[in-house]
Amino acid sequence: MPSPVMDTYGRYPLALSRGRGVWLWDDQGRRYLDMVAGIAVCTLGHSDPVLQRRLCRQLGRLQHVSNLYRIPEQEALAAAITARSCTDRVFFCNSGAEANEAAIKLARKHGHQVRGIADPLILTAEASFHGRTLAAVTATGQPKYHQGFEPMVSGFRYFPYNDTAAFEALLASCEADGPRVAAVLLEPIQGEGGVNPGDPAFFRRVRELCDAHRILLIFDEVQIGVGRSGHWWGYQQLGVEPDALTMAKGLGGGIPIGALAVKAVADHFRPGDHASTFGGNPFACRAGLTVIEEIERRCLLEKVGAHGALLQSLLQELVVRHPGQLAGERGWGLLRGLVLREGGPTAPEIVKAAMAEGLLLVPAGPGVVRFVPPLVIRPRHLRKAVKRLEKALRSLA
Ligand SMILES: *Cc1c(COP(=O)(O)O)cnc(C)c1O
Repeated sequence: MPSPVMDTYGRYPLALSRGRGVWLWDDQGRRYLDMVAGIAVCTLGHSDPVLQRRLCRQLGRLQHVSNLYRIPEQEALAAAITARSCTDRVFFCNSGAEANEAAIKLARKHGHQVRGIADPLILTAEASFHGRTLAAVTATGQPKYHQGFEPMVSGFRYFPYNDTAAFEALLASCEADGPRVAAVLLEPIQGEGGVNPGDPAFFRRVRELCDAHRILLIFDEVQIGVGRSGHWWGYQQLGVEPDALTMAKGLGGGIPIGALAVKAVADHFRPGDHASTFGGNPFACRAGLTVIEEIERRCLLEKVGAHGALLQSLLQELVVRHPGQLAGERGWGLLRGLVLREGGPTAPEIVKAAMAEGLLLVPAGPGVVRFVPPLVIRPRHLRKAVKRLEKALRSLA
């Protein structure tokens, strides 16, 4: 019997039915240590009592109203985001792809109005990931995600990530006959593409050139944003401020919400230019507000810094003990990648073996195993996770 659900995912034969903190249980009662967190989503872990209480209370008061009306919870969440970032206005939607769609539309309008470009281009990086809607997947610089869905959206060009000379050359060729580029869209650290941290010198140069040409610099913070780096935003790790940033995954702690936050360019969207039925409803915004409040109340940014450093050193030691299988480790805070040796087990093989040891991990491409645990994780969980991973590696040796 085929599943009634479409086969858009290669699914593991595992049904998770209950969660608490960093632990998940399957329908057979087996327990798993969760280093995936719904792929960087469950910021406060599973079934967090505070989030549960606030959401229950919100459900009992008001769940959804249209954006035709003012939504106080949305205004409060927008204020919470702008107060903690370099931005001044926020648009709400429901996912990372949608947040990037909003950014792309705003950038095109800005390009038309400020640079007078009729046919604007957006420059993005190879190995990037920006989502699966048509424009977001076109922005994604990985041909494997385009195949079969052509024609792609026009107006995108790609360059190798962290490659200053290649970026300068592409920009110069695009601008050879006058203004043509509306925006540069970049992840501060590439997540799906293999956990590749941005190079501050490269980002500084991109910022300089964007300033010189009045090109918008947009950061896709859907994976690293909302505390995962140990700062509120990945751009703080780079020391380079964007004109706009997108967020989603970790913002709602498991409730779908996305946002585009911008600095000084919000007025290019006028009433009627962009919209979302569900975007920023009271329920989702209560989730976002609670996540931000709890990150602060529990000092999670500091803890992510410390626990990220612990995970880094545990993984570095693991690499030393398994030089035939592991090549290295990289990442920021609690977004970390274990880089595999070619010829050894692949990321999907290691993820499967780890599952048998009661540990959930997620690949970032074929050659990297990714750790994106809840931000509430404790040192003993990290030690246990690396121990279980080591058992899995031994079973594959
Ligand atoms: C996951 C992700 C997206 C897409 O988010 P969805 O909510 O799945 O649409 C976009 N950008 C980055 C960097 C991501 O990690």
